[in-house]
Amino acid sequence: MYDFSYHRPSDLDAAAAIVGAHDDYKLLAGGMSLIPSLKMRLARYPGIVDLSGLDALRGIRRSGTTLLIGAMTAHAEVAASAEVAGAIPALAVLAEGIGDPLVRNRGTIGGSIANADPAADYPAALLGLDALVITNRREIGADDFFLGLFETALEPGEIITAVRFPIPQAAGYCKYPQPASRFALAGVFVSKLAECVRVAVTGAAPRVFRLEDAERALGGNFHPAAIERLAVAHDGLNSDIHASAQYRAHCVAVLAARAVAAARHAQG
Ligand SMILES: Cc1cc2nc3c(=O)[nH]c(=O)nc-3n(C[C@H](O)[C@H](O)[C@H](O)COP(=O)(O)OP(=O)(O)OC[C@H]3O[C@@H](n4cnc5c(N)ncnc54)[C@H](O)[C@@H]3O)c2cc1C
Repeated sequence: MYDFSYHRPSDLDAAAAIVGAHDDYKLLAGGMSLIPSLKMRLARYPGIVDLSGLDALRGIRRSGTTLLIGAMTAHAEVAASAEVAGAIPALAVLAEGIGDPLVRNRGTIGGSIANADPAADYPAALLGLDALVITNRREIGADDFFLGLFETALEPGEIITAVRFPIPQAAGYCKYPQPASRFALAGVFVSKLAECVRVAVTGAAPRVFRLEDAERALGGNFHPAAIERLAVAHDGLNSDIHASAQYRAHCVAVLAARAVAAARHAQG
């Protein structure tokens, strides 16, 4: 690890002031991605701003037709939350399937989406539910948030404070986990909202994306049968030691149908 100055502010304004004054400083949430990169000297920052003292960034609150999850809320809290289970059970399923207990206890929703790992689970939920990312400066729709491989719309020094999810009529998530890491080799989040159906895919491409053919088909008939002949193009999909692009395309079609079945099952 290279030397750095360490800051642990106790409120958002103080945190924003530090990163606002030093745009080469890095925010620290659960540390599940950042700490290993520091330990292995893959990254070097002159200062680290630890968000763990910002209690206002923690917690889960249902209000009307939305569910608000603070950026510093750990995956394990989302998985165990009665509010989440009651409003969006697919989100609890997704959180429970992230990594292992250590990762779920330390890793946060804010850190996960800021990191924008192409195989992370939460980006699929944000895009699949048309969620809003709330920062200390603005609100960003999920369609505009994930820009590329480990790349988001966040500006230097911008802090995610929460994510607001609309509560859908039905939602389901299904992933094929890479056996060692549990990250998604491919994963599909499907939701039926009041005005449309959304289908988001993670793990298959450099960034999370929507499957518009499936959205159209499911908009007319929210049933796995509506997408049983879905042909997913493999152009632009990831090909690596774990799976070819063709294999991932096949997985996406299978997982999409299973996610719809899970959504229908959860709906009762
Ligand atoms: C062994 C292992 C297995 C894993 N398996 C999975 C898996 O199956 N599925 C999955 O989705 N993920 C998986 N992860 C990733 C994990 O879920 C973490 O969410 C992720 O590593 C980052 O979250 P964090 O809270 O630890 O953030 P950190 O590591 O602290 O930070 C990550 C990045 O986000 C930035 N950041 C953090 N918080 C904010 C904020 N509030 N505003 C702006 N920027 C911020 C940091 O500056 C940094 O750039 C795994 C990780 C490990 C180590």
